Amino acid sequence: MTDLKEKISKLKKADVHSHLHLAGSQKRFSERYPNARINFPNQFNGLPGMIEFIYGSLNTIMSTKEDVIHFMDIAIQSAIDDNVILLEASVDIGLARFFNNSIEEVIHEVIKLQEKYKFEINFKPDIGVNKDLDIDKVYNYSLKCIESGIFHGIDLYGQEAGKDLNPFTRLYNIANDNGLKTKVHIGEFSNHQSIEETIQILNPNEIQHGIRAVDSENTMELILKNDIQLNICPQSNIALGAVKQLKDHPARILHDHGIKITINTDDLILFNASISDEYNNLIKAKVFTFDEIKMIQSNAFNL
Ligand SMILES: [Zn+2]
Repeated sequence: MTDLKEKISKLKKADVHSHLHLAGSQKRFSERYPNARINFPNQFNGLPGMIEFIYGSLNTIMSTKEDVIHFMDIAIQSAIDDNVILLEASVDIGLARFFNNSIEEVIHEVIKLQEKYKFEINFKPDIGVNKDLDIDKVYNYSLKCIESGIFHGIDLYGQEAGKDLNPFTRLYNIANDNGLKTKVHIGEFSNHQSIEETIQILNPNEIQHGIRAVDSENTMELILKNDIQLNICPQSNIALGAVKQLKDHPARILHDHGIKITINTDDLILFNASISDEYNNLIKAKVFTFDEIKMIQSNAFNL
């Protein structure tokens, strides 16, 4: 192991943009499912290509509630493997479909995972909401998650452009009133205006991706003014084609603008880059120095 790799691997790390059931490493996955024949591609054809892969390949393996529990379990193990000590990962409330539509059962499993790994990692689950989920279910499940008291934040994702966010404002107000951290996916593929609209409608604490803010001084100013952190996932951006080459990643300009950014994995099982890999790659591509990475790292811990 090179000096740099070793230094990075020893760092105590955080991952604050991660989708729990897709956050296991490919290594942990093959250990758990030795007979699974899955060819993980290096490049997906955008977000639709990724969704096609999930439905066509991964979901043939994750077909029961036991599998969902395995997928979530290997995610936490994989974070621990990489010396991640803080994991903020969204639990997709739509996974209730695997548990006879019982969100209570999902919550129960999340509590069990927290207990199981409590001495190894600070696992803070976020309520994961796909914009395509039926809105009555969104409210019903999310409110039960909030009532449970175990969730630390809420995160909204799915198709970015052209989706009406207004149905979610009440939910975000409730989440805010209950002291949850609010996160929204926007601006990976959608333009900088969509980021501004999202800030106006949902006023989130943090934005997942948000990299297209780089196209507008105005948008970057708005992010700064509202003290919004951008939780960026470089390898995800590359694999989905949102960014062509790592050396040109907008993270540098956003950081230079004074915006608080963090570096994260998104879906480790798909993008195959741990936090350590992400850091290594960014330093190798001369986007950041090791000292800058350490500073960025401290943002994730809210230091
Ligand atoms: Zn994401």
